[in-house]
Amino acid sequence: MSKTVSAYAATSATAPLTPTTITRRDVGPHDVAFDIHFAGICHSDIHTVRAEWGQPTYPIVPGHEIAGIVTEVGSEVTKYKVGDRVGVGCFVDSCRECASCRAGEEQYCVRGMTGTYNSVGRDGEPTQGGYSGAIVVDENYVLAIPDNLPLEAAAPLLCAGITTYSPLRHWNAGPGTRVAVIGLGGLGHLAVKLAKAMGAEVTVLSQSLKKMEDGLRLGADAYYATSDPDTFKTLQNSFDLILNTVSANLDLSAYLSLLDLDGTLVELGMPEHPMQVAAGPLIFKRRSLSGSLIGGIAETQEMLNFCAEHDVRPEIEVIAPDYVNEAYERVLASDVRYRFVIDTSSLRG
Ligand code: NAP
Ligand code: ZN
Ligand code: ZN
Repeated sequence: MSKTVSAYAATSATAPLTPTTITRRDVGPHDVAFDIHFAGICHSDIHTVRAEWGQPTYPIVPGHEIAGIVTEVGSEVTKYKVGDRVGVGCFVDSCRECASCRAGEEQYCVRGMTGTYNSVGRDGEPTQGGYSGAIVVDENYVLAIPDNLPLEAAAPLLCAGITTYSPLRHWNAGPGTRVAVIGLGGLGHLAVKLAKAMGAEVTVLSQSLKKMEDGLRLGADAYYATSDPDTFKTLQNSFDLILNTVSANLDLSAYLSLLDLDGTLVELGMPEHPMQVAAGPLIFKRRSLSGSLIGGIAETQEMLNFCAEHDVRPEIEVIAPDYVNEAYERVLASDVRYRFVIDTSSLRG
């Protein structure tokens, strides 16, 4: 039976999010229905609802860091049962046939993955995200949350965790690798923890020294303020890999010059406006500029298991749904330490 659930939605790019109700589809043979217990707030939620990445379809219920407990499974479901602890990240479907899907990199599906919100599902209905009481998702796009990861800690891993884990793995971060992380926010703080857990040497590049104590406590070996011009002189040619997690435009050429020969700067942040890059810093040390999008289902499961095993947990501030608009303002002011997670209990039932 389809079900009406409470949710928080944006109705325009400028309106605050407000309470509403949405309908979740009938549980099909391959579907898993679960009660949402926690939903993380990703900066992408803000970019999307504020139309910084193009015009979304309103009303829109954001949230793609979703953790909860299974309440019902379809007749053909084999991976999950009622009572299981599960999660959903940034997408809920893909074509399942293209080379990317077959390779387990559904995020790069040639026909386009189906986003957890602001997309259209196979049933032709708009998808709606995790700032809500329950959701129905095909079992192949549901993750198992390991027993020793609390649900509220698992939620941010489903976007911020996999988005930083995947490039660290792709570019072989580990012992002997010098990794820098630009921006100590939701993605950035997990990048520090994950890179450290993989054995890399980690440096934080933050706007100011305000978060220095935190950065070092999270595991960074070094911490620099990018507002200090000396930072760019001191750190020339110092890194093998730089993850840029900043949601705003940066002087990418200045950051590229911090890479050593053959180093790579990976764009994870997706600011609204294009950025300029000078050719010189790329040419003179054969440096690369790349990007990376979340991660596939198999790698997301691998990341959850890695976090459980290596005790990697996000630092979170749990909030009630009615705090979401204030939380957005604090994220925009770089005043998040380090992920807001909505306790959705008041939206259930
Ligand atoms: P966040 O929590 O707001 O963190 C971004 C951090 O960037 C801030 O904490 C701040 O760190 C720094 N920053 C913000 N504005 C800045 C400015 N004007 N100049 C320099 N630094 C600035 O955001 P998030 O949730 O981690 O997301 C970060 C970005 O990644 C967003 O654009 C988001 O859409 C994108 N994203 C991409 C993917 C993907 O698959 N590639 C997945 C998820 C998110 P300091 O205070 O330390 O400087
Ligand atoms: Zn996200
Ligand atoms: Zn595909």
